[in-house]
Amino acid sequence: MTKPTWLVTGGAGFIGGNFVLRQIARGRARIVNLDALTYAGNLDTLAAVLDHPDHVFVQGSIGDRDKVLSLLRAYRPTAIINFAAESHVDRSIDSPAPFIQTNVVGTFELLEAARRYFRDLPETERQRFRFLHVSTDEVYGSLGPTGKFTEESPYRPNSPYSASKAASDHLVRAYHHTYGLPTLTTNCSNNYGPYQFPEKLIPLMILNAIEGKPLPVYGTGQNVRDWLYVEDHCRAIERVLEAGRPGEVYNIGGGSEKTNLEVVQTLCRLLDELLPHSPYRPHAQLIAFVADRPGHDLRYAIDASKIHRELQWSPAETFETGIRKTVRWYLENQDWCRRVTDGSYRRERLGVLA
Ligand code: NAD
Repeated sequence: MTKPTWLVTGGAGFIGGNFVLRQIARGRARIVNLDALTYAGNLDTLAAVLDHPDHVFVQGSIGDRDKVLSLLRAYRPTAIINFAAESHVDRSIDSPAPFIQTNVVGTFELLEAARRYFRDLPETERQRFRFLHVSTDEVYGSLGPTGKFTEESPYRPNSPYSASKAASDHLVRAYHHTYGLPTLTTNCSNNYGPYQFPEKLIPLMILNAIEGKPLPVYGTGQNVRDWLYVEDHCRAIERVLEAGRPGEVYNIGGGSEKTNLEVVQTLCRLLDELLPHSPYRPHAQLIAFVADRPGHDLRYAIDASKIHRELQWSPAETFETGIRKTVRWYLENQDWCRRVTDGSYRRERLGVLA
């Protein structure tokens, strides 16, 4: 059987990049990778596959409907997997406009291109086609000390980022119900692992600690997130693509709730162990509590029982195994970190209201 072709958007970013590298290594699909190469997208991440015959990189925006439609007609993918987004909450506080443009308008344009392509497919190919939209648990808002988000939880987004993702999820839902587009939506908890842009908590803390810089923890560090190793997220997406029911939503989570302070303390302990000659040991002395993020959601936790029950997915990594791999990766790939932050971002604090 010939390999299917998938259009992956945002495949030069953190999760999309890991997904593309994994699919090329598995040899199960050809990937057309459409990415606008914003500050968060880096071809360095894709260095190992840029010349691979199963990988075609195209620079462009999901908001460019004509470009997307011509790619769809030229490559005839059996699936679109939409990772492309503006993804950083702090940036959405400073500057919400690009979030609306990419996450809302961009997803709309991508859906329009998909709808037209899907409409013209022969029946057998229509049966097979899927549009998988990658979203976040942040659309559900914030939890108190107990409870978990299920697929039935109401949408209560609190940041411009989560509101823009919520809007995109609603559009995806509407394109299924109105036009019969075979959509799948995944709402995932916080990811960590290789190739994450160093503005996000875990890589930022690792890189600052290596250099003896302060480790800024927002508020009292008691905000809780449910952490998932990025490769486990990629495996979940594969399962949803293979066996998910069109029109359905699947929550994906690691079952690994940690306060931000626990995460940073764990990183410090690992760095103490892995960098025995560092002048900054114990790294925990670098922890500095800073003003909280405006509107900072207290707690996210995912009930992943649906994907476990229906698609037999569960995470392979615990937080302890995944975080150790992650710290090692950043220690061994400091050149990648330097190259991707050579642009305008210098690990400064974003998202503080004036
Ligand atoms: P990222 O910021 O690392 O990567 C986003 C990628 O999208 C970049 O390569 C960027 O260049 C590209 N992009 C941005 N605008 C584009 C546009 N208009 N057209 C085409 N490409 C564009 O993000 P990530 O962390 O890899 O997240 C990927 C997806 O997963 C996002 O939709 C995000 O909302 C979702 N998600 C992320 C997490 C997480 O913890 N990182 C958790 C749950 C869900």
